[in-house]
Amino acid sequence: MKLAVLAGGVGGARFVQALIEVVHPGDVTVIANVGDDLEVHGLHVSPDLDTLLYTLAGLGDEERGWGRASETWNARDTIERLGGETWFQLGDRDLGLHLVRTEALRRGEPLSAVTARIARAVGLGLPLLPATDDRLRTRIRTPAGEFEFQEWFVARGHRDPVDRVVYEGASEARPAPGVLEALEAAELIAIAPSNPFVSIGPILAVDEIRAAVERRRESVVAVSPLIGGRAVKGPADAMFQSLAGGTGAGQVTDCYKGLIDALVLDEADADDAREVAERGVRPLVTRTLMSEPDARAALVETVLGLVPAR
Ligand code: GDP
Ligand code: CA
Repeated sequence: MKLAVLAGGVGGARFVQALIEVVHPGDVTVIANVGDDLEVHGLHVSPDLDTLLYTLAGLGDEERGWGRASETWNARDTIERLGGETWFQLGDRDLGLHLVRTEALRRGEPLSAVTARIARAVGLGLPLLPATDDRLRTRIRTPAGEFEFQEWFVARGHRDPVDRVVYEGASEARPAPGVLEALEAAELIAIAPSNPFVSIGPILAVDEIRAAVERRRESVVAVSPLIGGRAVKGPADAMFQSLAGGTGAGQVTDCYKGLIDALVLDEADADDAREVAERGVRPLVTRTLMSEPDARAALVETVLGLVPAR
């Protein structure tokens, strides 16, 4: 069974983690968002790639949801004492990865290659691909001005309402090696319950990736990140309100117009099933809260139920 998953950070990682409780990890190719990437203290940080890497390799801090377990913060404390910026926190263990990646990128190694090397080194059992090796950056337009994604999200605590999301560099970006092949070879393509605007949007903003998903539409399923019209965590519900005009499963379906055959939605949103069906997409209602083992199993069963029988 070959699967390809489009994923952001925390929601993406939890979903892939649930999948590989059932499917052989080597059969799941993860295509990850890089629109959140940023430079911190001269280092290239890829928050979503790292959340996926740490979570799926069993190195992540489950409580915090990002960064590494058993982390220490000596470097950050020093930076603070010396008057440096600490709004984007990097732990000591985490810093080691950013040093290796940044050095490799400066040498001209593509992001996909250094990611594969790091994944191998930490024993990650599945292919983890950045959507693109090219520079692609999500920017957020708000009434208070336009911000880099992390500046809006972390430094400003995603308090500014979002007027528009812009994917800088997307029109020139090419898919990273292996991405199109994985989308082509997959028996099922799953869009994780990640934020459609700032996690999945940047991936699909790469024209060749969008076209490849479009071609495979009959084999594409998305999982809604909303439960009872609310985000489990983060600004997705507020973004749905301001960018899509509502927080129903109909609006989630609209985000993936022309790209999906089915949408998995939570039982709490079962009333929205008709709106999904009216849009030509099959609604699949189940429990989707992944912190609950029963719901996680039900979600995975629902998704894998779409894999064509051989
Ligand atoms: P980020 O890149 O770390 O911000 O994470 P993602 O974009 O991958 O995931 C964030 C989204 O995941 C949020 O919109 C959450 O509502 C959604 N999410 C997190 N946990 C769950 C869950 O257990 N079930 C569902 N349905 N969505 C979830
Ligand atoms: Ca992210």
